Amino acid sequence: MTEIRTRFAPSPTGYLHIGGARTALFNWLFSRHHKGKFILRIEDTDRERSTQEFTDAILNSMEWLNLDYDEGPFFQSERYDLYREAVKKLLDSGKAYRCRCTKDELDAMRAKALAEGKPPGYDRRCRDKELKESDGPFSVRFAAPVDGETVIEDMVKGTVVIQNQQIDDLIIMRSDGTPTYNFVVVVDDATMGINHVIRGEDHLAIRQSRYRYALLLVTLLLNSHMSRLSLVRTRQGSAKGTAQHRSKNTGTRDLLQKP
Ligand SMILES: [Zn+2]
Repeated sequence: MTEIRTRFAPSPTGYLHIGGARTALFNWLFSRHHKGKFILRIEDTDRERSTQEFTDAILNSMEWLNLDYDEGPFFQSERYDLYREAVKKLLDSGKAYRCRCTKDELDAMRAKALAEGKPPGYDRRCRDKELKESDGPFSVRFAAPVDGETVIEDMVKGTVVIQNQQIDDLIIMRSDGTPTYNFVVVVDDATMGINHVIRGEDHLAIRQSRYRYALLLVTLLLNSHMSRLSLVRTRQGSAKGTAQHRSKNTGTRDLLQKP
């Protein structure tokens, strides 16, 4: 049987919230139960909001909760070469393309779509232009399939089917050369061999499109590699860091209680 590999991937833009700790706990429990591996990844690509103080606080919270990890912590900020390589691979294979639309053009596109009662997505006007690097500043978009459907086998919710025509051609690399969050998450999961993703069920919601894209990319990039995506309900919205619970003598066991 394939080794179970799960991950917990917090952003050091704040203290570890109770909802995040709970997500970490479920991933840890699942990997421990199956004698697999639990990986810690620090998603610090938001350079303005990520701080060493929050990174330290997260690592301390993990230790306090006794959530030991087998690999990591890995830092996304140290993996940019890998992300650029992945973008190049998609461009070379025709699964991504360069877009030169300006912010004004995109705003006008969105306004027009909304006025016509259509979803405010990108109209793919650059998709067949075959723009080159020498054509000037560009962002890179994922060339999402335009027909068919994407199926996610979720261990909790069962088969989830998404019509591909609902999927937007999301930007995977901005014009300043930085990769987007949704893309790097997928590259990381692929290269780290993550085969089970346990997250809040809101991450599968159609309206929360950015997560849908991430899931779709996972499906598209990994298919045979990633066999399951599973979701658990986590408590969201609590502004309390785990430090507060620590002072109240809350234990890991209490995180398992229903919200
Ligand atoms: Zn464009």
